[in-house]
Amino acid sequence: MTGTTNPTKSVMEHYSNRIVLTTYPNQSVANPIPLNWGASTPTSRGPVIVSRSKSTISKRNAIGAHGGSYAIYGALAIASGALDPDFRPNFLNTQPTFNFPTQAAWGDKTKIVSMDPFGHEIVKHYASHIESGLDVRPTIAVTRATMRVSEISEAIKIGRLSIDGNIVLNGQGDVRVTKVAVEPVWYLPGVAARFGVDEVLLRRALFEHTGGNYPELITRPDMKVFLPPIGGLTVYIFGPPERVSDPNIRLALRIHDECNGSDVFQSDICTCRPYLVFGIEEAIKEAQNGGSGVVIYFRKEGRALGEVVKYLVYNSRKRGGDTADQYFQRTENIAGTKDMRFQALMPDILHWLGITKVDRMLSMSNMKHDAIVEQGIPILERIPIPDEMIPEDSRVEIDAKIHSGYFTTGKQFTEEDLKQVKGRGWDAWEDITH
Ligand SMILES: [Zn+2]
Repeated sequence: MTGTTNPTKSVMEHYSNRIVLTTYPNQSVANPIPLNWGASTPTSRGPVIVSRSKSTISKRNAIGAHGGSYAIYGALAIASGALDPDFRPNFLNTQPTFNFPTQAAWGDKTKIVSMDPFGHEIVKHYASHIESGLDVRPTIAVTRATMRVSEISEAIKIGRLSIDGNIVLNGQGDVRVTKVAVEPVWYLPGVAARFGVDEVLLRRALFEHTGGNYPELITRPDMKVFLPPIGGLTVYIFGPPERVSDPNIRLALRIHDECNGSDVFQSDICTCRPYLVFGIEEAIKEAQNGGSGVVIYFRKEGRALGEVVKYLVYNSRKRGGDTADQYFQRTENIAGTKDMRFQALMPDILHWLGITKVDRMLSMSNMKHDAIVEQGIPILERIPIPDEMIPEDSRVEIDAKIHSGYFTTGKQFTEEDLKQVKGRGWDAWEDITH
């Protein structure tokens, strides 16, 4: 830090001399406010309390920190003096723009295990806790916005999408949307059950493989809730949000896992952005026809393997001869597994929204399909991405996926076919020796 202030001293003074490395049940610093996951009302459930601030540390009933991966930036902001460690948010006017109707699933600890079903109305339900000085924060925020996506503007221009003045506002392609951001809040027994593993094993693995972070995963078996340092999800709702949970109204749904290289930067090695945009267009059409359109965007970059692993895989594919028959093996060679997205927790958000059936599922993924159906939500129709939207270089991926069980209404591929599906080489950019 440059400048005249040196915050180091005052921040250090904020912390006690005796560092609380972990806590144990029945200690004086371990006097948690009861948290009854699965209780049907926010009052009987109790607030999720995770802060280690002075006023709150003894009342904590959850492990981890708010903000998902951004918790680290919060720590950096405090260490650098940019943020007061005792800062409390002013929640004036932050309430949801739409009141999602309470669902039975909000009080069912088997149906929602990876988000706080009352996380959007913390300020309303737990005002007395906040007023008493406890640091309680929302983990869900609901807002509304207008968005403009170039492919959607193009679809309007060529007449594939119409301007209705309500959802699609104009010829520039401005589209009205309700957005819900959700941070992960894990009820560990429920997460363990979803994966069919023992809770003790899950807690041990989370402790060991995060550099020994969160020792309370081991020492506080009474604390059942964990706010993990990972990304969450965003729901984009087209059309009136009250339609989403109405079983008599048709629903088009796209579940999308983040792929920054394609979603934002439009790399042509995969079908991610084309499928996302197709999902948005179909969601808009469904809403314009009196139905509801929902796109849910999960922060699970590169099949939750991350971009570094993803690019290593790209290199090994391009340098090793990029054919569809070897597509999954290339990932497994580097990551040890072909996918870490594990769709088992994904349907929680559908339960939260009150979705009881999906009329049109804009996805070919068998994993997403099976996870939703296993949660008791039938999928009436599955819609593959139209062939003309598939970039040439992404055929390697999509054909390999179809061969591995992805849904298609088109061609099924044999092992022999896959050997012939080749991606673009790098020859124009560098010399490649096979
Ligand atoms: Zn992609």
